[in-house]
Amino acid sequence: MMKPAKLWRRSGNRVVCTACARRCSIPEGSGGFCFIRKNIGGKLMLMSYGVISAMQVDPIEKKPFNHFMPGTYVLGIGTSSCNFGCLFCQNHNISKEREISGIEMTPAQVVDTAITQHAQGIAFTYNEPTIFIEFALDVAELAHKRGLFTTFISNGFMTKETISLMKGKIDAVVVDFKGNGERIFSNKYEMVTSNEPVKEALIEMKRAGIHIEITDLIVPRAGDSLAACHGLARWIRENLGPDTPLQFTRFYPDYKMLDYPYTPIETLQKHHDAAKEEGLNYVYIGNVSGTKYAHTYCPSCGKVVIERSGYTIKGWNLDSSNRCNGCGTKIPVIGKQPELFMDRGISVLY
Ligand code: SF4
Repeated sequence: MMKPAKLWRRSGNRVVCTACARRCSIPEGSGGFCFIRKNIGGKLMLMSYGVISAMQVDPIEKKPFNHFMPGTYVLGIGTSSCNFGCLFCQNHNISKEREISGIEMTPAQVVDTAITQHAQGIAFTYNEPTIFIEFALDVAELAHKRGLFTTFISNGFMTKETISLMKGKIDAVVVDFKGNGERIFSNKYEMVTSNEPVKEALIEMKRAGIHIEITDLIVPRAGDSLAACHGLARWIRENLGPDTPLQFTRFYPDYKMLDYPYTPIETLQKHHDAAKEEGLNYVYIGNVSGTKYAHTYCPSCGKVVIERSGYTIKGWNLDSSNRCNGCGTKIPVIGKQPELFMDRGISVLY
């Protein structure tokens, strides 16, 4: 479905898309880097409005959020294409697609599906939601009216103009760095010249009151520099605060990087320790099951306050104000002890 885009301006006989930091200048009849935003008759059109390529209900921990609405379920939806060109993309079947395909749904149908499937929120995910922002915001507005929360799983390569539209409509965002955000990694493996726009966007999102969590994909041999990890963690602490959750995720060989190995657990542990040394309070390791690095620890007394196994919450050690039951420290978690967790009869620690 084709709909007029909101984020663009004219520049001579071209249009400039202002949704993501590429700011593509697009001649008549052509699309931008992501190809789904196209100049038609001197106006920018979103060609993939409401065309859903993937849809699934997942625990929010899979997105991965560790400090936002723990224990809830989200309906994840994605469309086609992407504004990055990652050589390791695990969703390359949709992100590299050069044709728009999927089932057509209205925002109301997406929200109805989420409610019917007992999801408490919606995640715009699988491909970069910035490129289909107009559809995402129409869904988000309706979702809020029906009592659902809304989230983006994003590379963060977006503009201030986009974030100003997201304000009040998107509640939480996971921003995914790769290779510790090193420029050389971004150039070679993501087809992006710089991660500076991502950092600017994070600061802007924080100003806009959007809950932020950060992931960092550690790719062996290509993007696993501990010095860069220290630098990124330091930047996060200084600009976003020490309570910003950071999760290092394990690389699995995919797409055009099949000859690279899985990230060794030891490498991830070293990254975890480096980020802790830089003063971040909530550091995790993801894409690995059964480790102690999946839990949330109280930064004051060191006790486990949320115990996780895979995407399941196994223990909850926070009071009704989300203070540590051991020492009373306020833990920055939005949400409450999940009902499902209690229904499953999982024991409460301490
Ligand atoms: S959203 Fe697409 S068209 Fe717009 S600037 Fe980014 S890559 Fe270019």
